[in-house]
Amino acid sequence: MIYNHLGVNEQGHLTVGGVDTTYLAEKYGTPLYVMDEDKVRKNCRVYIENMKEQFGEGSIPLFAGKALCFKGMYRILEEEGLSADVVSPGELYTAMAAGFPPERLYFHGNNKTDEDIRYGVDCGVGYFIVDNYNELSVLDAYAGEKGVVQKVLLRVTPGIDSHTLKAINTGRIDCQFGNPIETGQAMEFVKTALEKTNLDVWGFHSHIGSQIFNVKPFCDAVDIILGFSNQVREQLGFVARVFNLGGGFGVRYVESDPQVDIPGNIQLLARYLQDGCAATNYPQPTILMEPGRSIVADAGLTLYTAGGVKPIQGYRSYVTVDGGMTDNPRYALYQSNYTVLMANRMNDSADFTCTVAGRCCESGDLIQENIQLPEPKRGDIIAVLTTGAYNFAMSMNYNRICRPAVVMVREGKDYLAVRRQTFEDLVACDL
Ligand SMILES: *Cc1c(COP(=O)(O)O)cnc(C)c1O
Repeated sequence: MIYNHLGVNEQGHLTVGGVDTTYLAEKYGTPLYVMDEDKVRKNCRVYIENMKEQFGEGSIPLFAGKALCFKGMYRILEEEGLSADVVSPGELYTAMAAGFPPERLYFHGNNKTDEDIRYGVDCGVGYFIVDNYNELSVLDAYAGEKGVVQKVLLRVTPGIDSHTLKAINTGRIDCQFGNPIETGQAMEFVKTALEKTNLDVWGFHSHIGSQIFNVKPFCDAVDIILGFSNQVREQLGFVARVFNLGGGFGVRYVESDPQVDIPGNIQLLARYLQDGCAATNYPQPTILMEPGRSIVADAGLTLYTAGGVKPIQGYRSYVTVDGGMTDNPRYALYQSNYTVLMANRMNDSADFTCTVAGRCCESGDLIQENIQLPEPKRGDIIAVLTTGAYNFAMSMNYNRICRPAVVMVREGKDYLAVRRQTFEDLVACDL
């Protein structure tokens, strides 16, 4: 099995955290998101412990809420000692509604509206990660009006090609996020920020991309940011206390994907940073990272009920499921790989080639193409693995399909974390 928190029981059923997935499908209905909470917590601890050990006290992971955002997640994060980044007032609201301490929140976004900025300051978020000049002046003015000094990090673009998908590669110069170092714009941006009397600049942020499998792009980012910080020290006399290196470590969606050694990579990165700081006599900053995918992706799976098989003669066979792009748009968006299993017949031989299709009126509504399963029958339970990140978070109501529930499994027990949407929910905003 691709993950060791998954298993197969005596009935030949797929289990997650020791719980039978067919029991979960029966109890809560399908489609259903299932999260192994023990696995989420384990993933949190890998970052917490290794970052503290390698980068020193105060260096912590911020969970990237955009990967999976609902109240229960923030309660877990708080218990595990993580901070969190939020990218919208809606994520901020969710964190606040869960009672997450606002001083441990970092407010992201390349176009925070005036209203967002006021809401963030009013909530008392710890740090704004400021993307642009407009945000700088609106934030400074509002902080002044409120009589507070707002802590900020400044988003810079190191100009790195992280060799991942273009859609999730945000470290290039030509993108809508941050201020490029190479063109000199980042320096100007820092200069302007330092002149703002109601802002307290703590350091720099960069996010180079997602689904990154090795530490090299992060080392490159450290190189560039440290070089930049040295220039800033020389030219402006400012020394950064914080480097936020963003998120991005990859996860295994299919057996052929490598397993990222996060402790090993953190250790390498820490050595690299220490050497760089020593060589330039730069005081070692606190390091923040923003893992999203690598905290929650492998802890999640989605269960569907098969509708049946439709062979298109001379072409291929489609197996339909009772969800699709509305709960997992990632294949439709960027042909993401997934491992698909027949949860109720794990011991049957997977000798039937098929394409898993959703129920939307879109020919692109596919979950995965040309995979091997036991020949599906109507009523079979189909599991798609590694859906903990960017699935629930990206779900939608296209075709007025209700969003699935999220069930958590912890220490062999299951509980509902997000209830399934109802038809009443669908019309709740319609006047
Ligand atoms: C998307 C994103 C993350 C999380 O990336 P993962 O690949 O899920 O770890 C972190 N920080 C920022 C700014 C992001 O845009």
